[in-house]
Amino acid sequence: MTRSKIIIVGGGLGGLAAALALAQKKFDVTVLEQADKFREVGAGIQLGPNVFKMFKVLDLINPIEELAVFPDALVMRDAITANEVTRIPIKTASFKKQFSFPYGVIYRPDLLNVLKRACEQCSNIKIIFNKRVSTTRQTENSASVICEEQS
Ligand SMILES: Cc1cc2nc3c(=O)[nH]c(=O)nc-3n(C[C@H](O)[C@H](O)[C@H](O)COP(=O)(O)OP(=O)(O)OC[C@H]3O[C@@H](n4cnc5c(N)ncnc54)[C@H](O)[C@@H]3O)c2cc1C
Repeated sequence: MTRSKIIIVGGGLGGLAAALALAQKKFDVTVLEQADKFREVGAGIQLGPNVFKMFKVLDLINPIEELAVFPDALVMRDAITANEVTRIPIKTASFKKQFSFPYGVIYRPDLLNVLKRACEQCSNIKIIFNKRVSTTRQTENSASVICEEQS
């Protein structure tokens, strides 16, 4: 069966994760990224148990576990006094039983790098930089994009 060709606009965390998932299903995926290279800004990102389910499907648990931090508890504090409002232990047997996967935090660029490296290892994912999509068009059977003229 011939699989459709997929275009993903934007090589961010979601775009690259989608590219990996589609490549696993044998689609040919092209990621169009407006920047000249991958750049993730910001600090940490929370990884709830739900995202570890996705990492498992994408076979990324090991590289993520090497880079993520797994705190003992979630602690909420009063923004003015910094007094502890509540503390939820998250390395307990009951948390594991309820959610199956852990809760962690990771530096955003580290997460993007893991996804990027996995994409680079997939022969059916092509990433094109300096491609800013200006228009998308969709019909019943197809979709296409128009990119801005490169200077
Ligand atoms: C302050 C903040 C905190 C957050 N904290 C968490 C958290 O703790 N845990 C969590 O799971 N999620 C968190 N999120 C959400 C998470 O960051 C997003 O769900 C995720 O980044 C979405 O991925 P994305 O690939 O769709 O978009 P983005 O990561 O925003 O990436 C978009 C990419 O598309 C490119 N692009 C944009 N326009 C075009 C164009 N026209 N043509 C080509 N390329 C284009 C950009 O250059 C960029 O590389 C947070 C979000 C914010 C704003």
